[in-house]
Amino acid sequence: RVYLDYNASTPVDERVLECMIDVYRNHIGNADSRTHQFGEDTRSIVELARKQVADLLGVNADEVFFTSGATESNNIAIQGLREYAENSGKNHIVTTAIEHKAVLETLKQLEKEGFMVDFIDPDQFGRVKPEDVLNKVTERTLVVSVMHVNNETGMIQPVQEIGEELSKRGILFHVDATQSCGKLVEEIKNLKYNMLAFSAHKLQGPQGVGVLVLRKKSYKLPPVKAIMYGGQQERGIRPGTIPVALVAGCGKACELAVTEYQSNLEQANQIKEELINILRESGLSYHINGDQTYCVPGTLNVCIEGVSSEALMISSKQFCGISNGSACTSKSYSPSYVLSAMGIPVEQIESSVRISWGHGVDQDEVLNGFRALINVAKQMN
Ligand code: PMP
Repeated sequence: RVYLDYNASTPVDERVLECMIDVYRNHIGNADSRTHQFGEDTRSIVELARKQVADLLGVNADEVFFTSGATESNNIAIQGLREYAENSGKNHIVTTAIEHKAVLETLKQLEKEGFMVDFIDPDQFGRVKPEDVLNKVTERTLVVSVMHVNNETGMIQPVQEIGEELSKRGILFHVDATQSCGKLVEEIKNLKYNMLAFSAHKLQGPQGVGVLVLRKKSYKLPPVKAIMYGGQQERGIRPGTIPVALVAGCGKACELAVTEYQSNLEQANQIKEELINILRESGLSYHINGDQTYCVPGTLNVCIEGVSSEALMISSKQFCGISNGSACTSKSYSPSYVLSAMGIPVEQIESSVRISWGHGVDQDEVLNGFRALINVAKQMN
């Protein structure tokens, strides 16, 4: 069996696992307990992890806040601005039509509450144009929220250009970096943003922990407030006992990404070339969704003409884990809203599959799994 759904979740790196087991075995205590050494020990583990995250992103450790994942981080970044919106009278938000549901649904809720939200469509290759986003910005704009890399197509969005311009205009900018963190390491360091979100499980860390970055180096700390009531953990931004082992695993995954991302990218690139060769030689009619010049190395979204992605996934379920990128939470099948926003016709969307891979994969295993998948597709064609 071969797992080709890294954009959904990655396997935990063995070294991350060891680090977490060590915490579970040897370090007890609440990281916010100040009355004994146990608490001080776990606190120092959390602070080491915070530093490891900060080093990967090129930010200060005190700009890093641990959460339960990117969904929560995105929610805090956006919903946490409610009070600021009320005080400033700013009620307009700009985003893209291809954001993850964690952002889209949060903004749709705010829209119901009276906020005006512009959802910018991408071009046919799945990239939004910076000017389309920037042209919507007015003095009433509260925040602009754009993902760095799209989870379905792997397309890198122009957050660099958008961030530069917004920082000049003093407009808050939130980046969902869930699919780029640990991959576009240098690019992220150079971005200008106020808030940034990601989940550890997309970069070989554990599920259930994520990060929200609130920048204050070149900007004031954004006026983000907690969206849950409770204790003062994470300086009040995210109340609740810190899951020390998960946080330590998140930090370790970030540390590994710093030293290993380059070789991971090289391997991921080679795999993509080989996958495209296999497609070329298969005799099937296909086309790749998105423009590969702007795509991360570990994602391939491909339409195999005449082959239903649903049927292909069902037939290959036993030996291959792929995805068609449609809302995994919805019970009834609905064609991908990301591919729809790119203007791709429904028949082509229904024949599109997403294959994603990353750190630690066995190249031969991936290629053999893909060959087997293509053989199934041929039989269905
Ligand atoms: N944003 C993006 C771009 C994602 O790909 C995901 C995970 N698929 C999320 C947010 C949400 O992450 P989580 O489910 O870990 O909260």
